[in-house]
Amino acid sequence: MNTKRSEELYKKALTLMPGGVNSPVRACRNVGRTPLFIDHARGDKIYDADGSEFIDYVCSWGPNILGHAHPRVVDAVKNAVESGLTFGACHEGEIVLAETIKRHFPSMELVRLVNSGTEAVMSAVRVARGFTGRSRILKFEGCYHGHSDGLLVKAGSGLLTNAAPDSAGVVRSSAESTLLASYNNEDSVSQVFEKYGGDIAAVIIEPCAANMGVVPPKKGFLQFLRNITKEYGALLIFDEVITGFRLSIGGAQQYYGIKPDLTTLGKIVGGGMPLAAYGGRHDIMECVSPIGSVYQAGTLSGNPVAVSAGVETIRIIEESTDLYTVLEERSALIEASMRKAGINVNRVGSIITPFFTKKVVSDYDTALSSDTNAFAWYYSYMLENGIYTAPSQFEAMFVSYAHTDESIEYTCRTIENFKR
Ligand SMILES: *Cc1c(COP(=O)(O)O)cnc(C)c1O
Repeated sequence: MNTKRSEELYKKALTLMPGGVNSPVRACRNVGRTPLFIDHARGDKIYDADGSEFIDYVCSWGPNILGHAHPRVVDAVKNAVESGLTFGACHEGEIVLAETIKRHFPSMELVRLVNSGTEAVMSAVRVARGFTGRSRILKFEGCYHGHSDGLLVKAGSGLLTNAAPDSAGVVRSSAESTLLASYNNEDSVSQVFEKYGGDIAAVIIEPCAANMGVVPPKKGFLQFLRNITKEYGALLIFDEVITGFRLSIGGAQQYYGIKPDLTTLGKIVGGGMPLAAYGGRHDIMECVSPIGSVYQAGTLSGNPVAVSAGVETIRIIEESTDLYTVLEERSALIEASMRKAGINVNRVGSIITPFFTKKVVSDYDTALSSDTNAFAWYYSYMLENGIYTAPSQFEAMFVSYAHTDESIEYTCRTIENFKR
């Protein structure tokens, strides 16, 4: 593999940005490689600065459900750009996107548009605290909710212990109000509620976890969370930044049939542009400024160019009659190939993670049992065979509507030939 130009660029980037990157996982340090610099991308392919072509299963970490640079989305963005890049004022596109979101996520009775998943979650948590007048948040080990202070907590902390910050620069006090439980473990949740129940503003969860690798919720687990939060007067927040418009057009809440109080969306909802959203029950969202006392604002929130990409992307999803069936079929083929190659795998719809462990991966501890050296080996094998996947064991492989039968077939064959 020729990576000369990427290496040159990386060397230069190292002098300008911490680790040479604008988001840490791009650095490929986990897999002992230097990152590829991308020149352009189209459909299911991504092309690096040295002219190599790859079949892309990173899909920008989730947004590209239609593949790269879908012509209709690109046209919508071009048209929007012609009318002005940002107004800092109301425009009709915001209404169209909010209506679109609400149509598919009926639990989101009122919606706010923001700029990143981090911002959406941070705001939803503030609203939950403002609405309930309580301070604590319960999250699950191994779930990622963006990089706001209170949610960056050591995922290895024991149950019932107040979380220690997982990052330098986060003061203990802002992590202390975050409580931890184990994913798929009802007892761990009950114990936290017994001790802190009256002070828990919200339980936040990835309704299908995808940031410790894909870990689906066990049957009944989300319903259990719905019941216990109701019992204690806490809110249930679904962080659907990955699962929204991914597991189904109505996200995980439609897929699993559970209605949360608040929902956060990101990634697909912005169609590849920096846009995210949060929303939920009318009475809760009425706490948000200017009608309520929870402050949240944004110079570029509801940006017309970003909104145009989101609206057009969802419109294409709505118009397609077979998108989720096709994603399911193609993803099932990849899962089957992994099993043939003796790789353990978790898959829900079009998100897939290969695990290098004999254990059933159902929570953070079992995810951590995966052999990351074996993963690094697999990663390099795939890359050198022209298949671009996330350079970390604890991420998902994303299948898009743009992946052709030919690409899927080639991917399956390559996986089946993998030997350690
Ligand atoms: C990506 C992600 C976020 C953070 O979104 P950003 O746009 O990267 O800030 C939050 N929650 C989940 C579940 C995510 O996957």
